[in-house]
Amino acid sequence: MGEETTDMALLLRGSVITLRRKCGRSGCHCADGTLHETPALSLNVEGKTRIVTLRAVELSEVKAALARYKQARKKLDKQVQASLAVLQARRARPQRPQRQARKKGAS
Ligand SMILES: [Zn+2]
Repeated sequence: MGEETTDMALLLRGSVITLRRKCGRSGCHCADGTLHETPALSLNVEGKTRIVTLRAVELSEVKAALARYKQARKKLDKQVQASLAVLQARRARPQRPQRQARKKGAS
């Protein structure tokens, strides 16, 4: 099976970080302290930190995917707040199951 080609818009959580490492080859610039830098996505999945290295060309795509997640999250949070308001409104106006118990004239 080859690489899956998918045109789906990515949705990602986490943050883009920069990995810095030495490759170990003698004479490489990293031996002098100029480490190799690789962009990566760091995210927590089911309690574990996952780090996925990224190609430079993937950076903007991944950043867009992160932004997409934040947007979706914001929308969800709005629904949560609206739902909280519904619950609170119920508490503020307790239901009166027995309507006939109301006093006459209090419409
Ligand atoms: Zn190196």
